[in-house]
Amino acid sequence: MEKIGFIGTGVMGKSIVGHLLDNNYTVTIYNRTKSKAETLISKGALWRDSPREVVEESDVIFTMVGYPSDVEDVYYGKMGIFEAAISEKVLIDLTTSTPSMAVKISQTASEQNARALDAPVSGGDLGAKNGTLTIMVGGEQKAFDEMKPILNLFSSSLELQGSSGSGQHTKMANQIMVAGTMTGLTEMLVYAKKAGLNLEKVIKTLSGGAAGNWSLENYGPRILKEDYSAGFFVKHFIKDLKIVLDEADKMEIDLPSTRLAKELYDQLGQAGYDENGTQALIKLWWESD
Ligand code: NAP
Repeated sequence: MEKIGFIGTGVMGKSIVGHLLDNNYTVTIYNRTKSKAETLISKGALWRDSPREVVEESDVIFTMVGYPSDVEDVYYGKMGIFEAAISEKVLIDLTTSTPSMAVKISQTASEQNARALDAPVSGGDLGAKNGTLTIMVGGEQKAFDEMKPILNLFSSSLELQGSSGSGQHTKMANQIMVAGTMTGLTEMLVYAKKAGLNLEKVIKTLSGGAAGNWSLENYGPRILKEDYSAGFFVKHFIKDLKIVLDEADKMEIDLPSTRLAKELYDQLGQAGYDENGTQALIKLWWESD
């Protein structure tokens, strides 16, 4: 059985490590803020003081940090992953990051006889808790095939999309779609409320028709309960939409709806809601009611 390392035990990482421990893997962990790892340590995860030390103990190393700059830090920084001997090891980045960072990591890994996969996920905090994430993978077929049994422990849908960076590009395609469903959900509720409709009934009815989608089913009820906790942080969605628009610029395509979604989320962030979940977009309307 492979020994697993896991760096970044936040909202998503914590649940994923839980599944690995439940399946009797030895998991060595590191997180910037140690207190966020305490629950996992009490469940049997082993703590090390840096990414480098985690790698030294492990065959397969997962990372799930916040931003591309965190990924850079964890892989290339002082006491980072690439300071360890990584020959024969597999590095899997679950963070939503840039395609170019994925290619860079994969090149550095292969120069040292290791392999890397970019494997961002979708399915939210609940998908991580329930072990039903969708994983979008970029990298080599052989490494993907070898890692499938481990990835399946916290996923219900898993696909190799192509070479390194393809997982991140697929995740950006996902986020373009989610930008549409989140703005759609928000404007739908703003409209339905003003029209004096029963919002619970509206959400239930719409979920069964052509407007049904994940954001509506998962975030609609949270909004009605005024539960704006993350879930998926506003600050991370802004990061993702920036990556989408940067990549679109490079490809010389214009995505006006996604651009507008980013402007709305930027406004929400500037209003101080960065640490809320993405369902907080409704506050741009309802707080001024
Ligand atoms: P999170 O709760 O902020 O978790 C990220 C964790 O990484 C934090 O615990 C953070 O440490 C740690 N970290 C950051 N930089 C680090 C570093 N240099 N060294 C060690 N640890 C570091 O965020 P999350 O919701 O789990 O999301 C993680 C990633 O998954 C993001 O890229 C996000 O966009 C993506 N994602 C999230 C969801 C979702 O629904 N939540 C869904 C799909 C994809 P601290 O404790 O010090 O902050």
